[in-house]
Amino acid sequence: MKNEKRVYTFGNGKAEGRADMRNQLGGKGANLAEMNLIGIPVPPGFTITTDVCNEYYEIGKEKVVELLKSEVEASMKHIENLMNLKFGDPENPLLVSVRSGARASMPGMMDTILNLGLNDEVVEGLAKKTGNPRFAYDAYRRFVQMYGDVVLGLKPVNKTDIDPFEEIIEKVKEEKGVKLDNELTVDDLKKLVKLFKEAILTRTGQAFPTNPVEQLWGAICAVFDSWMNDRAILYRKMEGIPAEWGTAVTVMAMVFGNMGETSATGVCFSRNAATGENLFNGEWLVNAQGEDVVAGIRTPQQITKVGSQRWAELQGISEEDRAAKYPSMEEAMPEIYKELDAIQTRLEDHYRDMQDMEFTVQEGKLWFLQTRNGKRTGAAMVKIAIDLLHEGMIDEKTAIQRCEPQKLDELLHPVFNKEEVKKAKSLTRGLPASPGAACGQIVFFAEDAAKWAGDGHKVVLVRIETSPEDLAGMAVAEGILTARGGMTSHAAVVARGMGKCCVSGAGAINVNYKQKTVEIDGKVLHEGDYISLNGSTGDVYDGKVSTQAADLSGDFAELMELCAKYTRLVVRTNADTPHDAQVARNFGAVGIGLCRTEHMFFDAEKIVAMREMILSETLEGRKKALQKLLPFQKADFIGIFKAMDGCPVNIRLLDPPLHEFVPQDAKGQQEMAEDMGVTVEYIKQRVESLSEHNPMLGHRGCRLGNTYPEITQTQTRAIISAACDLKKQGLDPKPEIMVPLTGSVFEFEAQEKVIREEAAKVFEEEGVEIPFKVGTMIEIPRAALTADCIARSAEYFSFGTNDLTQMTFGYSRDDIASFLPVYLEKKILNVDPFQVLDQRGVGQLIQMAVEKGRGVRSDLKCGICGEHGGEPSSVRFCDKIGLNYVSCSPFRVPIARLAAAQAAIENE
Ligand code: ADP
Ligand code: MG
Ligand code: MG
Repeated sequence: MKNEKRVYTFGNGKAEGRADMRNQLGGKGANLAEMNLIGIPVPPGFTITTDVCNEYYEIGKEKVVELLKSEVEASMKHIENLMNLKFGDPENPLLVSVRSGARASMPGMMDTILNLGLNDEVVEGLAKKTGNPRFAYDAYRRFVQMYGDVVLGLKPVNKTDIDPFEEIIEKVKEEKGVKLDNELTVDDLKKLVKLFKEAILTRTGQAFPTNPVEQLWGAICAVFDSWMNDRAILYRKMEGIPAEWGTAVTVMAMVFGNMGETSATGVCFSRNAATGENLFNGEWLVNAQGEDVVAGIRTPQQITKVGSQRWAELQGISEEDRAAKYPSMEEAMPEIYKELDAIQTRLEDHYRDMQDMEFTVQEGKLWFLQTRNGKRTGAAMVKIAIDLLHEGMIDEKTAIQRCEPQKLDELLHPVFNKEEVKKAKSLTRGLPASPGAACGQIVFFAEDAAKWAGDGHKVVLVRIETSPEDLAGMAVAEGILTARGGMTSHAAVVARGMGKCCVSGAGAINVNYKQKTVEIDGKVLHEGDYISLNGSTGDVYDGKVSTQAADLSGDFAELMELCAKYTRLVVRTNADTPHDAQVARNFGAVGIGLCRTEHMFFDAEKIVAMREMILSETLEGRKKALQKLLPFQKADFIGIFKAMDGCPVNIRLLDPPLHEFVPQDAKGQQEMAEDMGVTVEYIKQRVESLSEHNPMLGHRGCRLGNTYPEITQTQTRAIISAACDLKKQGLDPKPEIMVPLTGSVFEFEAQEKVIREEAAKVFEEEGVEIPFKVGTMIEIPRAALTADCIARSAEYFSFGTNDLTQMTFGYSRDDIASFLPVYLEKKILNVDPFQVLDQRGVGQLIQMAVEKGRGVRSDLKCGICGEHGGEPSSVRFCDKIGLNYVSCSPFRVPIARLAAAQAAIENE
């Protein structure tokens, strides 16, 4: 980019940049340009592009400075001309700020330097010219401190050390016997500057640069350097911001909020960022500079009178006291407030979104220094989008696009009380496996959970890992904490399905089942002790942190209606119980995409019959056990069909990892032997013979149905006779029967035959007939490759992307936790493929299977039912390749609906 333009100027109502140039100019630079263009008072300046940041890292400091030199010099002239000041001139000095600003806002992550251009001569000149030596030396003190920290690197050695500059300030204050910064005299400030410079020299070996031009280049390069500081790197990782974006650098004329009682600085929002309420609000400080407000050195006051009154009420301050001691800006500077209010309204109108703004008042004149679309909570996000729609500021499609699907989650689960969580003691952090907040007494076993809950206690189930047998305990617990397992671990999947808070894979916890204790970082907690979990962040807190129920306001419902209007892809749910089906239906699911039948056997009574079925060696024995299971299954299906009346319900035939269902412990085996009237030895031997080297690739799915067709028969009977019963009651059940783990069409066809024959029998016995479909799961790569053969017989495909990902990558989903972190660290993987669909590999298989399948059967219905069905980027992909539906756990339904509507709008 040798001859390209690297610097864009702005000032006095003109600008070379624009709002839509944020990729080059960063958000801050682009909006500073835009504010100029729409006539808002902004000090003049210029922005160096983000591309230069990349050059900086490619070719190094010296060469970049060389490349930039002439443009920066000309742009400094531009500022000098507009301000009628001169950089480095003691008679009439120009001071500037040097600011960072990336494409996506990264508040506070990078560095900014204020008051640049001061040295011992210039500060004297400034004092003389303004007749305000206190102000001049205050600015100088701040500059040396910021520059010494950011550019010259005088920082605390250890994280726990106090800041070296603060240490000096404290010492001087102590000597003087004063408490506040503003009690220091001009001489004190001079002394501080001297001590700062000495500390910098002795501790970094660098002299403080006296030449303003040298200062300027030092600061520009330091801002580029700050793109790679630890904070910024971590923040980018969390927010998924690529390092290649780079930061821009904006240099602009300083305006001073610290020139006395008619000067001030502040930060304000055009609406409430926490609740979305349409109320201008913010904080300000008289006689201060920008960073004072956010750094919390002095307690800022409220900008509006209403805000100030609300604040005082929370603080228990009387209205009289408030008005006297903590007046709002509206009261203290009414004229400027009016101007501020007018401009914030204009900015919101212009950007058509909630704005987060910074301003400074210099001796009665208002300047704007920044505006951006404000960050907000999930609740505020929905309210603001719907309000703006009602106000006619944005159209329906924009309102949909304004909402981030993942953030809806916050609205659906109970949340911690915000004030309380701030005070809570954090013990450790695990994976945020299932969002929400939970607080309860620790229990370690499912039975204990049931017992305690039965006695009216709120419990948190703490386990090394969870198994199907823990489900009952999970169901009654407020939340689940596990030491092992990832985001797709059993605990996580099930917890999400239940909308239950879960923190998994908290490696720092040591569970001792014998003593019923859990040790975290040296602290030992016992059964009955309180613990609190934040499933949205993975945080684990000591003791009680109270929660509040989520409130699904009218705005949320309205957003969902809008989504329905624009979507093509419909959303079904993964549900195994009538309760889950109902929850999902209330969230707008239009069917069940996956009903797992094995989950129905987890409760005490049914699991015995199930085990009996698995453990018996003979057809007779299995048939006897299946007869016991039949009524349970039928009752379950009746409940689910009722909850989903009129909507398709896709039921997957039995696909259990057998070994998970049989008792592994002596006590359980003893009980089982008694139940079945056989010896313990027999049970032991059967359990051993069932154990497999590789259960994931073992005797499961349709392999089970093909070796034991009586299982398929019984399940078909349960499904079809449940549907017949309801049909007779005037309901409209729509069963779909799905064969799991098909790898070849012959596996499918053998099962299909059993299903159709049994269904025909039931219809004849019942004297009614109901249309139903037989389809298959596509979760083995070979099934995708031979989809054209399979579609000959299968009426629909449901892509089981958990297994399909497992088998395509060859990563066991139960063991991925041991290498995933390293793979992510080394960028071998960008994301966990069990969470975000791998479009290039697994996605290609899906796309190919859809095309091959529809080539044979043009109306082949295709859906996806893995964990990916609720993940926005995966949903977008599903829309693009023409799937009919996605299916996800109930609490993800709204997220998938929003993502599906957005996909339809984007793929239009
Ligand atoms: P951040 O991105 O961390 O908010 P900023 O670059 O916005 O950093 O600057 C930090 C503070 O300094 C802000 O309060 C801002 O308003 C203030 N500031 C920046 N430039 C100027 C300037 N030219 N005049 C007065 N204050 C400024
Ligand atoms: Mg800022
Ligand atoms: Mg599967």
